Amino acid sequence: MSRALTEPESAALVAMIERGVPDDGVVGDADRREWLELVPWIRAGDRCGCGTCPSIELVVDERPGTAGGPRIVLVAGVAGALLLLFVDGGRPSYLELAPVGDERITEFPPADEIR
Ligand SMILES: [Zn+2]
Repeated sequence: MSRALTEPESAALVAMIERGVPDDGVVGDADRREWLELVPWIRAGDRCGCGTCPSIELVVDERPGTAGGPRIVLVAGVAGALLLLFVDGGRPSYLELAPVGDERITEFPPADEIR
């Protein structure tokens, strides 16, 4: 089952696509534009079960695309956490917030705090 992204999820996803830094290699503007065009079709799948983070699977609904292909990871920082966006085969697949310390962070932070 999937559901629509919440406002904070959608804003964090867009910020990550626009400003996330690839952990390896180069991501071009054309890639980022392509992923941004997918955003309206992206829904939230399962949420991480750990209870201390808001990480979600991303499901690109009702839109044909490539299956498989290389994985790209975009990384950004927020206060107390790292944000990671996984893109598999040209489709955003997972939006992760990884707390750096023991603090529970259960919502994605405002996009303007993502750097
Ligand atoms: Zn978690």
